[in-house]
Amino acid sequence: MTVTTDVPAGTDDLHLEQPYAYRRRELVEPDWRRLPGYRDVTAEEWASAQWQRAHCVKNVKQLRELMGDLLEDRLYADLERDQAERATMSMLMPPQMMNTIVPAGPADGQSWTEAFYADPVRRYMLPVFSDRRTDWPSHPHATRDSLHEHDMWVAEGLTHRYPTKVLAELLPTCPQYCGHCTRMDLVGNSTPVIDKLKFDLKPVDRYDAMIDYLRRSPGVRDVVVSGGDVANMPFKNLEAFVARLLDIENIRDIRLATKALMGLPQHWLQDDVRAGMERLATVARARGVHLAIHTHVNNANSVTPLVADATTAMLEAGVRDVRNQGVLMHGVNATTTDLLDLCFSLLDGAGIMPYYFYMCDMIPFSEHWRVSVDEAQKLQHGIMGYLPGFATPRIICDVPFVGKRWVHQIEEYDHERGVSYWTKNYRTGIEKTDPEALSRRYEYYDPIHTLPEAGQAWWREHGPTADHDAALDKAAASRAAASAQAATPAQV
Ligand code: SF4
Repeated sequence: MTVTTDVPAGTDDLHLEQPYAYRRRELVEPDWRRLPGYRDVTAEEWASAQWQRAHCVKNVKQLRELMGDLLEDRLYADLERDQAERATMSMLMPPQMMNTIVPAGPADGQSWTEAFYADPVRRYMLPVFSDRRTDWPSHPHATRDSLHEHDMWVAEGLTHRYPTKVLAELLPTCPQYCGHCTRMDLVGNSTPVIDKLKFDLKPVDRYDAMIDYLRRSPGVRDVVVSGGDVANMPFKNLEAFVARLLDIENIRDIRLATKALMGLPQHWLQDDVRAGMERLATVARARGVHLAIHTHVNNANSVTPLVADATTAMLEAGVRDVRNQGVLMHGVNATTTDLLDLCFSLLDGAGIMPYYFYMCDMIPFSEHWRVSVDEAQKLQHGIMGYLPGFATPRIICDVPFVGKRWVHQIEEYDHERGVSYWTKNYRTGIEKTDPEALSRRYEYYDPIHTLPEAGQAWWREHGPTADHDAALDKAAASRAAASAQAATPAQV
């Protein structure tokens, strides 16, 4: 469909297209029986959260069993090499998410392997070695905990970065593991490249310490209850923690973070979960607290009728809103059309409010996904004016030691070297005695391959890249050798 603009008198031969043509898109649950391993799966099994969890793809062998000979060996080898040498997250894909890869089968003339390689969900959930950059696989300033959340822990797993808000990491697991996870330092199983940090305290002691801090902190009004993904917590434990938050007078906003609303909607459709959410929402409403769900959807293909059903179930249970925080990534969604398609699918189809798109953080081996601040600003410009204002997401750069900044809040920008400078208007917990905190400029770095040649030459000369990448490569190689001997499949 071509959308035409209003044509001024005398120019009626002009029919200029809009940069983006809106079309209402009906949500479709792809037919899982097109995949050999799901050929005999019944609708009842598919709807079961237990069946979904028990049939996740956790390694290349299981992917082979699912896809049969639809995929060529080169793809499996590419994936295996990535797991051994690059992956910061282990493999974990519920069938629900697997089924959104190549949802309608390959295009005419395209092989399954080509379609699988090109798929946006595959690109971030099952990254392969050939996806990654070889010139600058990691930025020289990439770090494991790129947002320095652990530096700001006021109790184990409780990050107090903003004056009025905290992030409570209740658990280090999810029903699905995303290749680009910003909490790759803590979340998921260790990979050959990354040994994960472990919580020291038992969960019950950690939660007590968090609640204790919040009771003593009347300036905090907003708690993001996250992980990991709260869908991996036994619901009674999640309910007990949220109920304790609801008892704290100063807490006015509670947001439950769960990508599983999309990745495993069957979890949120279970009777006991719906009933428990209704109990929590009823208490929240009575106390004037806003209880919301924040999810993480990166591409329109992931928005299916089951995702809409789970969202409806949560809204009917009484949560105030379901909002989406996506991550901006090349090959996944970093075009105006992809972002708007996703936002309209969320809003029209599923009743999910587009809220943020984060720039992918500076973790190791993420350069092929990351966009520059300049590109992010252009994308923000590109999506303005199509969605209702309240549903137009802000594109956010999460600047280390600063926090979330809208991409146009930049103080200064060295386009040649790809260094942007940012300031902040509050002190985090680690700056209480730092008189310079509010006047200092904090740096963020664009991917080097996006820079002009002069900027790339500067980084080749000055960046600590040779040592940095060699160290990561060496660690990867030695761990890959050790893990090949052990050959232990990933476990949730
Ligand atoms: S769901 Fe969130 S916390 Fe879990 S792996 Fe994905 S990005 Fe990380």
